[in-house]
Amino acid sequence: MLDLIGNTPMVELHSIVEPFQGTVYAKLDGYNPGNSTKDRIALYIIEQAEREGRLRPGGTIVETTSGNTGYSLAMVGILKGYKCILAVTDKTSKDKIDYLKTLGAEVYVCPANVPPDHPDSYYSRGRQLAEANPNALYVNQYFNTLNIEAHFNSTGPEIWEQTSGLITHFVACSGTGGTISGTARFLKEQNPNIEVIGVDAYGSVLKTYHETGHIDKNDIFPYRIEGVGKNMIPDATDFSVIDRFVKVDDEESALMTREIARKEAIMAGYSSGAALAGLLKIKGELPKNSVVVVMFPDHGSRYMKKVFSDAWMTQQGFQTERNGEHVNLTGSH
Ligand code: PMP
Repeated sequence: MLDLIGNTPMVELHSIVEPFQGTVYAKLDGYNPGNSTKDRIALYIIEQAEREGRLRPGGTIVETTSGNTGYSLAMVGILKGYKCILAVTDKTSKDKIDYLKTLGAEVYVCPANVPPDHPDSYYSRGRQLAEANPNALYVNQYFNTLNIEAHFNSTGPEIWEQTSGLITHFVACSGTGGTISGTARFLKEQNPNIEVIGVDAYGSVLKTYHETGHIDKNDIFPYRIEGVGKNMIPDATDFSVIDRFVKVDDEESALMTREIARKEAIMAGYSSGAALAGLLKIKGELPKNSVVVVMFPDHGSRYMKKVFSDAWMTQQGFQTERNGEHVNLTGSH
């Protein structure tokens, strides 16, 4: 199982990106054994801690996570013999929580809409849980620069090889920022002209911070997309390797996730739809013959009761098809 982590497939996207005078590839990290890109950081951070003696046999792994990192940590924990304790927010889908419990993790659900320094926030809770366990490793993915290193050592080289060095643009949602910064750092070392585009959510502070160096509290409001954007600045984001940010909202990201399934037959998660929605907003600005890689961080099966449910979409006040149109699989609308 551990050997299956990384080396995920990359596929060309077709009708969903048309018209476009270039090529767009999706990096399908949902094909990791734990169905998300977070397998990479889970394995990397745990093995680094083992090498440094910070995690010993019989130890416990503690983390704050929107779900995917928790699943990956629990999976690696089983294979290596560690207990896993997770603090998640109440924005996390019930499916994701059930997955975590299936893998034997102890799960604490904390409120999402409190400031990070609030004692009930999942960050505070994670710290408390780690401090209460003498033989515990607190993974702390938002403030752990090994998160960047994991992607520098795996995702970056894979994309460089899979495009034979021809990549011109890399597009990824930024949550902890580990994926975008580690991958971008590697790619820019190979070719500094590669442009890196971060996708941020409305309701998050990342785009404004990148542009001004300040957090604008007015930017902060609740939103639905999981794993994208933040209400604080994570240390695991290296803003210097990100050229620009694009913002997307909950509805356009959800509709795009559904379209990816309908038009490309790819079951990808909500943030994959967000990433592609971000790219499509700016694709007209990209030069002819661009070779774009968009990160699809997880598998769509985790969202059957969310974006792939008509009832959930309606409950959120979202349309179920873009502009009320039914997407016809033969291509004509
Ligand atoms: N998409 C999903 C579904 C995620 O769980 C995460 C991680 N929080 C991301 C995107 C963002 O990746 P990163 O944390 O590496 O920025």
